[in-house]
Amino acid sequence: MKVIITGGAGFIGAHLCRRFLQEGHEVICLDNFSTSQRDKVEEMLSSPHFALLERDVIAPLSDAEKSFLGQAAVIIHLASPASPKQYHRLDLETALVNSLGTLQMLELAYHNRCRFVLASTSEIYGNPLVHPQSEQYCGNVSTSGPRSHYDESKRFAETLTSLYHRKFELDTRIARIFNTYGPGMQAGDGRVIPNFITAALANRALTIYGDGNQTRSFCYISDLIEGLFRLATRPGLAGTIVNLGNPDERSIKELAALITSLCGSTAQTVYLPLPQDDPERRCPDITLATRLLDWQPRVGLKDGLIATIDYFKTRARVDRSVDPPTPFGAIFPPSIPVPWPNRWDCAHEARCRRNGSHGGSPCRSERRSFGSPPR
Ligand code: UDP
Repeated sequence: MKVIITGGAGFIGAHLCRRFLQEGHEVICLDNFSTSQRDKVEEMLSSPHFALLERDVIAPLSDAEKSFLGQAAVIIHLASPASPKQYHRLDLETALVNSLGTLQMLELAYHNRCRFVLASTSEIYGNPLVHPQSEQYCGNVSTSGPRSHYDESKRFAETLTSLYHRKFELDTRIARIFNTYGPGMQAGDGRVIPNFITAALANRALTIYGDGNQTRSFCYISDLIEGLFRLATRPGLAGTIVNLGNPDERSIKELAALITSLCGSTAQTVYLPLPQDDPERRCPDITLATRLLDWQPRVGLKDGLIATIDYFKTRARVDRSVDPPTPFGAIFPPSIPVPWPNRWDCAHEARCRRNGSHGGSPCRSERRSFGSPPR
C-alpha cells in the first residue's frame, strides 16, 4: 500500500519510513527539514518505493501535489518539532503545524478516503495529577505557559482528528507517544538522553535540571515503531486513541547515574534550574495498547542505552555538534514574533525528489498564500 509519512525525516519518522519500506510498502515522506536532516532519508532515496516531497505541511496543497499524494491508504502525521529545545525555537511554527498542518492532512485523508494516524504525545497530559496516565485521563495542562504551544496544539490536533472521525467517519487513530530514544537521535536535540550521553562520552558534567527526582519512562525506538506500525496497519481500530510508551519509570537522577556508568565515564553532575512547567512524573498505562495491538515494549532501558551509546560513539560530529545543555529558558529565549502572514505568505518551495529528479520533470517553485483555504 501507499503510505504518506509527514515528518518522515525526523527521528521517529525515518525509522517508520524504513519499517514500511521493509514490509514492501510504498512510502512518500513529507518534510521541511526544520528540525531534521536530509541525510536521515538520503539512503532511502535509492529505493523505487520511496519518494521525498520537501514541503511544509501547513501550506495548501497544489492540484499536482494532491494528485501525487492521491491513492494513499494511510497518512501518518508526525510532522512537528518534538523536543522542548526545538519547539521553543520554533514556537509559532509548532502551534501552526499541529493545528493548520493537521487540518491540512486530515483534509487530504478525507479526499483520499484513507486512514489517518496522528502522532500525539504524552505532553497532552501536562503535569499529570493521575499516575500512571491512562487514555481516559484528561490532563493538567497550562494554556499559556512555556510548553503550551506544543501541548495545546497537540491537544487541538487530537480534537480535530476526533472530529473528522465523528463527523466524517474517517478512520482515524491517535498514538500518544511517550519519551522515546535510540539510534538516530540528534546529538544536539536537547532531550535528556542525547544530552547525558554526549556529556558522559566527553567527560563533561551531566546537566540535571531541578533536583533530578522528576521521572520519565523511556521507550526504545524499535518498540515504539512496532506499536506505531501495528496501530497504522491493523483493521478495526477506527477512532482508537492509545498510549505508546514503556512503563519502566525512572528518575532523571537515576538515568544520569546509569548513563555515566554505561559510558564508563568519570563525568560529574551539575544541577541547573528546572524549566517552568517541566512535568514531575510521567508513566504510561499501556493496558489498552497491549489489548488492542498485542503490543508491549521488549527492550529494557539498559540494553537500549547501550545501543544508543554505541550509536553516539560512532558519530564523528558528536562533540562539536552539541550545544551546551542548559534549561531552554536560559539559552533559548522565545523567538522574536514575526507576524505570521509575513513569515508564511512567502516563496514556498515544493520539490518532489526521487534520486534528485521529479519524475523527469523539473522541480517547481511556487508562491502561495498562507491564508487561502486548505482544499
Ligand atoms: N533534563 C535534564 N537535563 C537535560 C535535559 C533534560 O535534567 O540535559 C530533564 C528535563 O528537565 C525533564 C526530563 O529530563 O525533566 C526529560 O526531558 P526531555 O527534554 O528529554 O523531554 P520531556 O519529557 O521534558 O519532553
